Amino acid sequence: MAAFSGRDLRKIYITGETEVHALRGVDFAIHQGEVLVLLGPSGSGKSTFLNIIGGLDRPTSGQLYYDEIELTALDERSLTRFRRAQIGFIFQFYNLIPSLTAEENVRLVTDISDNPMSAAEALELVGLADRRSHFPAQLSGGEQQRVAVARAIAKQPGVLLCDEPTGALDSATGVKVLETLESANAKLDTTLIIITHNAGIAAMADRVFHFLDGQIARIETNSQRISPA
Ligand code: ADP
Ligand code: ADP
Repeated sequence: MAAFSGRDLRKIYITGETEVHALRGVDFAIHQGEVLVLLGPSGSGKSTFLNIIGGLDRPTSGQLYYDEIELTALDERSLTRFRRAQIGFIFQFYNLIPSLTAEENVRLVTDISDNPMSAAEALELVGLADRRSHFPAQLSGGEQQRVAVARAIAKQPGVLLCDEPTGALDSATGVKVLETLESANAKLDTTLIIITHNAGIAAMADRVFHFLDGQIARIETNSQRISPA
């Protein structure tokens, strides 16, 4: 079963008199439950692709499906509902609210979700049960990112979209965050889509989409996926 599929997706940004062709006709299928890495030079269209998949932005043309739902045919309200129900986002910087504890940060999401696990359970899953009453400033970078992962998985989304999730972390800490993401992938069957420049992360993926000049130039399948641990 395909979680996402797209046909001839194009994105043109228009700024003043300049047109930037960020996606130039992208065709793909992303499988439910897979770990997919998006790799490619800066400016090749990876973030644009991720934002469109996640319903944060719309393509200029082309069709995008999530299972049998055509996302490109939804109105704003339905697209927002889809995003809230199905998509968890993790960014390079953790975007935690400094005045709230780890548990309160996660509860911001669980309070407004249809089918959440408890905030305590989500923190347990990322190995931070003993840090639930800590404020962000009392946590290391890696721990803060794991709180962000707990926040993203607490609503039990179908898909986790990660834009450079380990970009601000040293490599050992990054591995720990990756293990957390992989355990969500394994336990919750969450599709994991990760933008990274890290070759170690790419080696852990089921597949790698290589972006170049707004197109998927090559798809690499790892027959022997390297799992952490
Ligand atoms: P990547 O994530 O691979 O670095 P992006 O998707 O961020 O690539 O960018 C692809 C191209 O689109 C780049 O040339 C970038 O400058 C341009 N771009 C991205 N977002 C915008 C935007 N909001 N407005 C104008 N141009 C943009
Ligand atoms: P990355 O390459 O790591 O994705 P970027 O700096 O390209 O980081 O993009 C960060 C954000 O800035 C993206 O959400 C994108 O939409 C926006 N952006 C990127 N390039 C431009 C641009 N030329 N003009 C306006 N916004 C942009």
